[in-house]
Amino acid sequence: MTPQLVFIIIIAIIIIDFIIDKYIYFLNAKHFNDPIPDDLSDVYNQEEYYKSQSYKKENYKFSLITSSFSILLTLAFFIFKGFAWVDGIARSYSDNDIIITLIFFGIIMLGSDIITTPFSFYQNFVIEEKYGFNKSTKKLFFIDKLKGWGLSILIGGGILAVIVWFYQKTGDLFWLYTWILIGVFTVFMTMFYSSLIVPLFNKQTPLEEGVLKSAIESFANKVGFKLDKIFVIDGSKRSTKANAYFSGFGAKKRIVLYDTLINDLETDEIVAVLAHEVGHYQKKHVFINMFLSLLLTGFTLYILSLFIGNSVLSEALSVRIPSFHIGLIAFGILYSPISEVTGILMNYLSRKFEYQADNYARNKFNATDLISSLKKLSKNSLSNLTPHKAIVFLHYSHPTLLQRITNLKK
Ligand SMILES: [Zn+2]
Repeated sequence: MTPQLVFIIIIAIIIIDFIIDKYIYFLNAKHFNDPIPDDLSDVYNQEEYYKSQSYKKENYKFSLITSSFSILLTLAFFIFKGFAWVDGIARSYSDNDIIITLIFFGIIMLGSDIITTPFSFYQNFVIEEKYGFNKSTKKLFFIDKLKGWGLSILIGGGILAVIVWFYQKTGDLFWLYTWILIGVFTVFMTMFYSSLIVPLFNKQTPLEEGVLKSAIESFANKVGFKLDKIFVIDGSKRSTKANAYFSGFGAKKRIVLYDTLINDLETDEIVAVLAHEVGHYQKKHVFINMFLSLLLTGFTLYILSLFIGNSVLSEALSVRIPSFHIGLIAFGILYSPISEVTGILMNYLSRKFEYQADNYARNKFNATDLISSLKKLSKNSLSNLTPHKAIVFLHYSHPTLLQRITNLKK
């Protein structure tokens, strides 16, 4: 295959992916005004419904603008040999391949983050603000950004450096060592995410004694689930949107409830949400997801190892000296149709798991409280009650509210 052909394929993939994505969102937007299904008629009152309608439309328009901007920028970068330019800058600082790779990705990541920051700023402080969701301050927004950069440099940079080193030392076998590294890192992060990363951004406090805690404990006892770590996280310092999640496993497992969730829901509704989370744990979803994503990582790395040494990838991007980092950029785009497909399969499985966790909550607790909590959460985040089938199939990790309620009422 010639470098020219590879280049054309890369550009074609970027454009086709964009067109399909925009078409799906367009289809979805066409159904914004669909009649609300009977089962969901009590989610919004008239005024809230109008508010949710304009929220959807505003987000749709905004995402059209940002994604168009970003594809134009990406195409320009590919067409005007941006990667060769950045490669040249990186090489002017060092002869060491690891350092060159780090500088190269540092410039690309930081550059694209700085360019897109005005958009995320607008999203937060104009759109989310207008609908009453945003609670973050501008200061906090930028502190979060800096912390995010610090983490990326430390963790991302560290892992990247080791991978390039594996590549230098073991050649084609680097994928196996990288796979092991990512596997160990994933398990480590799953266990320590809550105690190492979360505290950098949020405060977690043990749930205080009271009605809620005893309700949760009596549920946990009833289903024989050992649960001694229930934390409340101060999500309200950034957004009014509510959430709850499970993290870690074994002795490290904990349930984290957003303070906004505790404000918005009644005690039994919170227990129902928790029962759903316990369902995920009992049905081994945490392990299955980790196992599958590891398999997928191994598969991707193996395919990468077949292509990475091929200088055509670098030549396609007009870079003279073949390198790991340029190969990685070209591969990232060429592989994206496959990751699109695996993403769809993972979403399909995730929706199956959501039904299973809902069923668990229905059988071990009750359906009524889960239904009313799901309705409240949808209402409070002004979510779309009539999404199009195609977008659910491609992008939704959870079934729609209607699907979940229909299932719970069975
Ligand atoms: Zn779930």
